[in-house]
Amino acid sequence: MARKKASSVKKKPATTKVAAPAAEKAASVEEKAISAVTETAPTEEKKEPAAKETVSAEKKTAPVAEKAAPAEEKKVSAVKETVPAAEKTAVAAEKAASPEEKKELPVKKTVSAKEKTVPAAPEAPPVEEKKKTPAKKTAPAKEKMDPAAAKTTPAEGKKRTSAKKAASAEEKAVSAAAKAVPAKGKKRTSAKKAASVEEKSAPAAVEAASAVEEVSAVNVMSNLPRRSVAFIGSECHPFVKTGGLGDVMYALPRELVRLNCDVRVILPRYACIPQKYQDQMVYRGEFYMDLGKTGRNYYVGIMEYVCDGVVYDFIDNQEFFSSGNPYLNLVDDIPKYCFFSKAALAALNYLNWIPDIVHCHDWQAALVPVYLRTLFQDSPIGHARSILTIHNLRFQGIYNIPTIQYWSGLPDSVFGMGALKENYVDANMLKGGLAYADRITTVSGTYAYEIQTAEYGEHLENHLRYHSGKLRGIVNGIDYGMWNPETDSALTVHYNRDTVLEHKMENKLALQKELGLEEDAGKFVIGLISRLTNQKGLDLVSSIIPQVLDGNTQVVVLGTGDKQYEDTFRYYEGANRGTFSACIQYDEARAHRIYAGADALLVPSRFEPCGLTQLNAMHYGTLPIVRETGGLKDTVQPYNIFTGDGNGFTFDRYDAGLLLDAINRAKTLYFTNRDQWNQVVRRDMEKDVSWENSAKQYKDLYLELTQW
Ligand code: ADP
Repeated sequence: MARKKASSVKKKPATTKVAAPAAEKAASVEEKAISAVTETAPTEEKKEPAAKETVSAEKKTAPVAEKAAPAEEKKVSAVKETVPAAEKTAVAAEKAASPEEKKELPVKKTVSAKEKTVPAAPEAPPVEEKKKTPAKKTAPAKEKMDPAAAKTTPAEGKKRTSAKKAASAEEKAVSAAAKAVPAKGKKRTSAKKAASVEEKSAPAAVEAASAVEEVSAVNVMSNLPRRSVAFIGSECHPFVKTGGLGDVMYALPRELVRLNCDVRVILPRYACIPQKYQDQMVYRGEFYMDLGKTGRNYYVGIMEYVCDGVVYDFIDNQEFFSSGNPYLNLVDDIPKYCFFSKAALAALNYLNWIPDIVHCHDWQAALVPVYLRTLFQDSPIGHARSILTIHNLRFQGIYNIPTIQYWSGLPDSVFGMGALKENYVDANMLKGGLAYADRITTVSGTYAYEIQTAEYGEHLENHLRYHSGKLRGIVNGIDYGMWNPETDSALTVHYNRDTVLEHKMENKLALQKELGLEEDAGKFVIGLISRLTNQKGLDLVSSIIPQVLDGNTQVVVLGTGDKQYEDTFRYYEGANRGTFSACIQYDEARAHRIYAGADALLVPSRFEPCGLTQLNAMHYGTLPIVRETGGLKDTVQPYNIFTGDGNGFTFDRYDAGLLLDAINRAKTLYFTNRDQWNQVVRRDMEKDVSWENSAKQYKDLYLELTQW
């Protein structure tokens, strides 16, 4: 993502869709934007957001009023009816309820939980029947749907099933969360295990006990205030991922669903998204939107995919998203993400889904808070609060002012030094977003501090210091569903904390075999999984490889990136066959096998906002060797030779000698005090690096921002 500059800007012709002629006739560009955005929203909703929140509930209770609505509105509400049933009923109930009613909700849920767990009770309605009720409600709405709209819905048949799936997924998520809550502090799995042990020994007692447990779980769950959040970002596992941002966009929404949040993730519909996901997407609608000073209306399609209670809405436009890679060069990326940021907000208006919070990520979505407070201020979405999360301050979306003005269409007022203006020539999209966001977060406490200094501030340190009152660091976690050595399908042998010592050896031998290394469980295997860029401390690594390869040590590198590093590691592989492996590729499954098979993992970054590889490594019983910066400092406590405390090996200054020293300390412990090493392995596997704590902090932030 080099900050390339071009003297001229590509103005691409429309290749895919022709703009609607009626829309083209609209008087001014500004008006067009607003009309595209608000066209489908009912009039009252435009004026009164609080009233709008109750609309979905009202619609159900007042079908007559709904019938009287104009045809256009009917079409939208028909589309709305395909929203996951469980989600809809929950939101509607929550939003429509008066404060007194809201207080009563938990009690109602408690009763239903009791009923669920005591099937013998005659008055309890069967769970199946309950599930069907909202589904029935969706049917007539679908019938009402405008036939024209039906024609434009190729995946119509799939819609019903996906809505049902979504409903059941939502229910699953809720029940999973409910189970997790009573364990307070304990891990979910252990709570489950404990329950199943009890079940075997005393089935009768268990029925009562589990009923109580589930009742209290539902109580806690329903006591959590509900908030709706739209995540807007440029990548998300498993659709498209180039680094940690993709992991966060995947895991955090799922965890927030467990904390009683209603989450929608808005992403570009890149052509490179695997076909199996493309096939499962359901058409949710389309509209045309003006963009900047282009004088054109651009097609915005909305394709939806629902999984585990999270709704993913993909913004479709082949003109912007047809390349095989999400990021190309700034000449293409600036227009692409101006379009995406604006289209994401317009899509939320179009869907008539107005979240409490719009949570944007990195420079690609940084214009969202700016749009919210300017072009979209008077539209329904203008009432949402915004959070901008910095995953990596190095990438900021800087380009010359006229180009960003041209594509964004933002008013001149935002191009001042307090917002987008970077210097006399350039505008900075991230800088503008930081100025306009209601809150700024970054992915660790140390990085939140570091970016306010000249060393790590990437020239934004003054701007960040100015906005430090709204800046906060929340460390990332990892998704235990995706990263779990006990169930990981990529591994040769599964293991947990109790079996790690023997089974890690087997994974090590399998890894050595896979990579053509000498198969010897006694060798100390060091892994490195990384984008190969100068952020990651690879110059340090490459300068000490000869000293590291001492005959008892093997090194495995997995990554792609700058040619100089790729070539260096290829060279080392050629020169050290059997002891050094350079996998110059992006391979998820192999990454999992390296986490499981290696003894230690290197993360000697020059700077590291959070870093996920050290968390993955610890969870797989692989000890991290890291530089004390950013999230690495916050998550890896250095091993103390005197007390035996700690969970990895660290060094502070960016210096190859200190890295070598840290590696040697790790080796010394491994070869001379294996018992102690094994204790650290177990401790690392026990360490809570899940999203649970971090997601709670995000939820608290959402509540802090929306205290109505
Ligand atoms: P960054 O976001 O700066 O790239 P992080 O440590 O935050 O670094 O996240 C990197 C994520 O990408 C981890 O989940 C890591 O396992 C994964 N990853 C990095 N490179 C590769 C690769 N070559 N193959 C597979 N996964 C990779």
